[in-house]
Amino acid sequence: MEGRSVDYSVIIPVYNEQDVLEATWKRVTDVMRAVGGAYELLFVDDGSRDDSAGILRRICDRDPCSSMISFSRNFGQQAAMSAGIDYSKGRAVVFIDADLQDPPEVIPRMIEKWNEGYAIVYGKRSRREGESVFKKVTAAVFYRLLRAVSEREVLVDVGDFRLIDGAVRDLLRSLPEKNRYIRGLVSWAGFRQTTVEYVREERFAGTTKYSPIKLFLLAITAFTNFSKPLRLATWIGFGLSAVSFFHILVVIYEKLFTNRAVQGWASLMAVSLFFNGVILMMLGLVGEYLAQLLDEVKGRPSYVVAEKRNVD
Ligand code: UDP
Ligand code: MG
Repeated sequence: MEGRSVDYSVIIPVYNEQDVLEATWKRVTDVMRAVGGAYELLFVDDGSRDDSAGILRRICDRDPCSSMISFSRNFGQQAAMSAGIDYSKGRAVVFIDADLQDPPEVIPRMIEKWNEGYAIVYGKRSRREGESVFKKVTAAVFYRLLRAVSEREVLVDVGDFRLIDGAVRDLLRSLPEKNRYIRGLVSWAGFRQTTVEYVREERFAGTTKYSPIKLFLLAITAFTNFSKPLRLATWIGFGLSAVSFFHILVVIYEKLFTNRAVQGWASLMAVSLFFNGVILMMLGLVGEYLAQLLDEVKGRPSYVVAEKRNVD
């Protein structure tokens, strides 16, 4: 791809996807060939433990339009997408999952919108096929909670499948943040945005790479990166202080005007346990911000590249 100008970059994060990669390559390639124009498929192997890297090597050897970056270990999907932002060259950039849950056939519709002048085109899931009830419920709760505490508008049911203009990519690349939560950053960037609806398909093969814990950690990053839960801590603090103030009034009243004063053990325990819980939660929240600050201050890169193919 040396020096060649590229119209479209398709960024594909890969983590243990050996069973789908060939099919993914084929379907995305068919779509991009039909679109016309110079394109690159940029596979980012996020430290896969299976044969994904080997398959990608073979793909890159036979197809000059495909390139790969391999991480030294698993750094997470956000890091893989970051690498895509750092290495892609296209005038438009498409992010798509490797598992074919986001149909590549939607890409031409995104490009159409881009040609109409939109800088960011989100793929919006109109339906979710083949995902567990747990995943659907947690996703629904997550998006709505995030929307409730976020300073910026959060689009519900919008995943990572999207097209961004090269200028937006350049902007994201120039940001000094290490813990990039790409979805939040893209919406933060502004520009003209629109959505394209599609039906999210079942995984083509393999299983989800997100354990509930990994999802929870991602949710924490999303919350503390792009919303102000710290302010939430203040509000809850104020609210509870007000409530406890009234409780103190009740206690004083009982002491002075009734003979029930010593019976208060249960309520005392309840109040004390509750407040201890809230205080620990708020401490944890502050700790989350501190941990993120520390991470940024240390300035370590968000990923380490171990191998590159067809990339300069
Ligand atoms: N992925 C990754 N690193 C990870 C986890 C996932 O690069 O640590 C990739 C994965 O290969 C896939 C995309 O991110 O291309 C979305 O992952 P997955 O399909 O498992 O998530 P789900 O669709 O279940 O939300
Ligand atoms: Mg998936």
